[in-house]
Amino acid sequence: MGFRLPHNGRRWLCYALAVTRAYLRYVALFVPCGRFPKSASDPEGPPEKGVRCMRQFSNEPVMDYSAAANRAAIEEALAEVQAQLGRHYPLIIGSRRIDTRREVGSVNPSRHEQVVGHVAQAERAEADAAIDVAWDSFGMWSRVPAEARALSVMKLAAVMRRRRLELVAWLVLEVSKNWREADADVAEAIDFCEFYAREAIRYSQMNAVHPHPSEINVQLYIPLGVGVIISPWNFPLAILTGMTMAAVVTGNTVVIKPANTAGVIAAKFMEMVEEAGIPDGVVNYLPGSGASIGDYLVQNPRTRFINFTGSKDVGLHINQVAASRQPGQIWIKRVVAEMGGKNCIIVDDAADLESAATGIVASAYGFQGQKCSACSRAIVVDAAYDEMLERVRALTERLSLGPAADNPDVASVIDEKGYRSIMQYIEIGSREGRLAAGGRGDASLGYNIEPTIIADVDPRARIAQEEVFGPVLAFMRARDFDHALEMANDTEYGLTASVCSKSRLHIERAKDRVHVGNLYVNRGCTGALVGLHPFGGFNMSGTDSKAGGPDYLLLFTQAKSISETV
Ligand code: NDP
Repeated sequence: MGFRLPHNGRRWLCYALAVTRAYLRYVALFVPCGRFPKSASDPEGPPEKGVRCMRQFSNEPVMDYSAAANRAAIEEALAEVQAQLGRHYPLIIGSRRIDTRREVGSVNPSRHEQVVGHVAQAERAEADAAIDVAWDSFGMWSRVPAEARALSVMKLAAVMRRRRLELVAWLVLEVSKNWREADADVAEAIDFCEFYAREAIRYSQMNAVHPHPSEINVQLYIPLGVGVIISPWNFPLAILTGMTMAAVVTGNTVVIKPANTAGVIAAKFMEMVEEAGIPDGVVNYLPGSGASIGDYLVQNPRTRFINFTGSKDVGLHINQVAASRQPGQIWIKRVVAEMGGKNCIIVDDAADLESAATGIVASAYGFQGQKCSACSRAIVVDAAYDEMLERVRALTERLSLGPAADNPDVASVIDEKGYRSIMQYIEIGSREGRLAAGGRGDASLGYNIEPTIIADVDPRARIAQEEVFGPVLAFMRARDFDHALEMANDTEYGLTASVCSKSRLHIERAKDRVHVGNLYVNRGCTGALVGLHPFGGFNMSGTDSKAGGPDYLLLFTQAKSISETV
């Protein structure tokens, strides 16, 4: 006679197996250091379960372009990419490449007669088709185990590493980043993939509920559905990759609407998504006009969430449109919106003025001041003001200017609209304050603007309040340190700030009072690193989603609680 289970035995056997499996998982996960890993970058956490050879997350090193071999390599990559300019990039919906009636030529901001690529422009029918395909793919992708999704995203990082120089070259030519800034963009994209892959595995293992003797209780993080990713042009690879892969690695499928001024880099991203083996339909490429097709995607009743990075006005508009329920809509759309900034560096009289000046210049003029985190206000305590202004002016005037391909310190701004708007702010600022450096523009070949300082700016002046998004720095005099803190908070934004001081008391006071999502001490206010500096702002800077941090993936999941009586 064979082995017979007691009454209700099958159920008990299943339960016993489940408990044993859970226990083994628990042992594998927790015992090595006796605690749960707090995040992918937690240095003391155990190796991530499931992918045993996975190393601890660390930031991708940037290339050293002072090395002759690296300079030669990037020059070769630029020549190769130059030979590919002017190609056509169709929409990608599922496995289909779709040419449209209308295309937009994406131009090189440093040589605006040069078309980097012609990008198809979606209309409503294609937007509907993309959402259909994304939902069709969701059933499959949401059920792929988290570890397999994570591996796909890590593979994307590997593809980016392999194509790194080529990507740098596309960034140089399409948005006018100098080599270092372009390389940092690619490194950050790789970081997002590596970090979120590990985070997705961590969330798939989390089960943060109390045990009960007669129940099996679990809380799972499941994906939301189909999301729309609307990205800006200023980190066209890093931000697009981060926003997209956070959603994808947690099991969602997406339609991406990249900024039109960076549509070619987004097409390169799609090539790599395919190369990484992420199935067709998981990421759908839908370039088109933000105001028409972006808006339509946001309104669509079948859009479950929107992940947006861009300007304050567009972010607020998206938030409003998404909040209004459309016929047939059965959920409240989730909106993640990261927007502009009016960031500052505060300089105390007790500060290392040389290092503060270097931090201000790097933060104000890196990528022509077109970073959401860029320093656009230097708030300097009275006793140090004149010396700081002189130091910053001297460093600013030493910056080299030129076409991005020649790797200057400061290259061209993104487009004619940006050029005009920045030049208008310089005019306004020159009336509101005193032009202390730069101020001239030249749009004959590329959209070039000198790095500019407007000194003696009143805290309520427009140049002190509005985001310029260009190489323009307002210098502001504070009576004392407390006044400087007040001025720092006196805008509608709250993205980044830095405080430079040698006084422990002042540093602590700044930590307590400066109301921004990312506060730095004794350094510049740009350059947040994935895993180290979770990034996102307060107030009109957005929803403080903290990209690159341990909470970010939660935004693309919903928690499902299951309780089974045993
Ligand atoms: P925009 O707001 O102009 O555009 C961002 C994206 O939104 C683009 O893809 C754009 O498409 C699209 N869009 C425009 N109008 C609509 C609409 N009505 N509905 C839906 N989508 C729309 O920003 P920029 O691209 O100029 O980027 C610069 C801004 O981004 C700055 O304010 C900067 O501070 C902010 N930013 C914030 C970051 C953060 O983390 N807080 C990081 C990086 C940038 P199209 O290109 O076709 O107009």
